[in-house]
Amino acid sequence: MRQQFMLLPTLREAPAEAEAVSHRLMIRGGYIRQVAAGIYTYLPLGRRVLRKLERIVREEMERAGAQELLMPAMQPAELWRQSGRYSEYGPELVRLKDRHDREFALGPTHEEVVTALVAGEINSYRKLPVTLYQIQTKFRDERRPRFGLLRGREFLMKDAYSFDTDWTGVDLTYRSMYEAYSRIFTACDLRFRAVEADAGTIGGEGGTHEFMALADIGEDTVVSCTHCGYAANLEKAEGRAEPVRQDEPAPENRARMEKLHTPGIHTIEQLEQALGVPASGLIKTLIFLTADGTPIAVAVRGDHEVNELKVKHYLNCGELQLADAETTLRVTGAPVGFVGPVGLPDGLMLLTDHRAAALSDAIAGANEAEYHLRHVQPGADFPLERIGDFRNVTEGESCPRCEGSLVFHRGIEVGQIFKLGAKYSESMGARFLDADGREQTMLMGCYGIGISRLLSAVAEQHHDDSGLVWPAAIAPFQAHLIPVSNKRDDQMKLAEAMYERLSGQRIEALLDDRDERLGVKLNDADLIGCPIRIVIGKDAANGLVEYKERTAAETRLVTVDEAIELIA
Ligand code: ATP
Ligand code: MG
Ligand code: MG
Ligand code: MG
Repeated sequence: MRQQFMLLPTLREAPAEAEAVSHRLMIRGGYIRQVAAGIYTYLPLGRRVLRKLERIVREEMERAGAQELLMPAMQPAELWRQSGRYSEYGPELVRLKDRHDREFALGPTHEEVVTALVAGEINSYRKLPVTLYQIQTKFRDERRPRFGLLRGREFLMKDAYSFDTDWTGVDLTYRSMYEAYSRIFTACDLRFRAVEADAGTIGGEGGTHEFMALADIGEDTVVSCTHCGYAANLEKAEGRAEPVRQDEPAPENRARMEKLHTPGIHTIEQLEQALGVPASGLIKTLIFLTADGTPIAVAVRGDHEVNELKVKHYLNCGELQLADAETTLRVTGAPVGFVGPVGLPDGLMLLTDHRAAALSDAIAGANEAEYHLRHVQPGADFPLERIGDFRNVTEGESCPRCEGSLVFHRGIEVGQIFKLGAKYSESMGARFLDADGREQTMLMGCYGIGISRLLSAVAEQHHDDSGLVWPAAIAPFQAHLIPVSNKRDDQMKLAEAMYERLSGQRIEALLDDRDERLGVKLNDADLIGCPIRIVIGKDAANGLVEYKERTAAETRLVTVDEAIELIA
């Protein structure tokens, strides 16, 4: 590619709001431009690196036996209601209506669409197992989009979904994906750890691992053992801390809190109107039954399986089941899955998920019919912060698996794999006939990699003070050819000749044919970060060029043949 007419706008300074070094360098290097918060255009250089990443991911997916397809971003709300996630997902789900007032969502993941597809197309064990994947744009209206591509609202993901006939099959598929992920991140030259993790809104009944790129900017904490292979996300790490138990606001804060009388609120829309804030997914009351049949109401956000786990731990009760509609109605006067603050009869425990309530105008429940509290400061008013990470672990404490001790690192979650089991196949009717002609439910797994986030994660790890330092496998170009002056015939001729030879060998080169001073060109070359730089200067007449690797300090004078051999 010739640089002169390329859309490659390098900048001396990055915008002040770009905090992460990957974000700053990708803006300065002409890789990306922001269009809106968390929404970016990939300029030609950025697109090239993304394609390299996509190629690595595709190769490993196909090697693991996955088949590529492409599903729509725009998905009917109906599908999301079937799985139950339309109400569970919360404000991160981008919702819209078509001209006929039909509801849609822009996919943050594709479990619903793919499960409905497979339910309709596969009905025999003879066609299983099958793994399908796509590389596609995802939408999540993140509360705090930041760090450039690291947390976008529109981003590129590889998502794969597997369908097996039994748990042995699920385990095998999961293992092969785990290995494919390890190969993908190794190929990208990423320092990473695979860690045990929490299932979040994806849910599911099996295990899950996150793949964490180690970087200080990372928003997650990786807990690992200095001795054995134990590694976990701090959210999930096994510790011994005692949970805090409190269901009353601190007395000194009571006055500030506002009791809101909300009679007759039965829908999300009504709740939102009453509160003047988006409420969907913020507060939801689920009723669980303990083994002796005592109902426990829990105001939560997100997945009931995760919440069930928390309640078990929090109340120290072994067995819980989600109450049926009738019990819920009896206890709260509202149906199961009712979203919004419902009054709770005296004596019922009410928990607030601290993550759900971490809004400036937080809402919490109250145990008086049709009242709830506004202006609650979770943590201060209800010291419930332990609910989210009740397995509170501290650095230096001993490993749960061996005699070693635990160390903490910051990590960027670049991928996650889940054993979902029947979570989606059950509700969406993905069943098959087994060898004996019996109907069974398929068992699923799902596997995501944030490709655009991966691009930034690699940049976080591979740069220096002058700019990006791409690993060869994903660099936008392998070699950057720089004639000292584009007015010198001998230099330009030699540069063009090298460029043609490299192109002939299918080696990607960038030819800086701009009318710029050498200093400007060299600075830009460092910023852009191709692995090899060739300067064509005063020795061009003798067929010699200056060869330099981006990671090396020294420059070597070599013949054109030698240079081409070194690049190839
Ligand atoms: P996070 O914890 O960072 O919010 P997540 O656990 O919600 O991520 P998953 O649902 O596991 O994300 O999605 C699969 C992958 O998609 C993640 O491992 C991550 O690499 C990527 N991803 C998720 N959210 C974003 C985002 N907002 N911007 C860019 N990539 C993302
Ligand atoms: Mg998320
Ligand atoms: Mg996560
Ligand atoms: Mg995740």
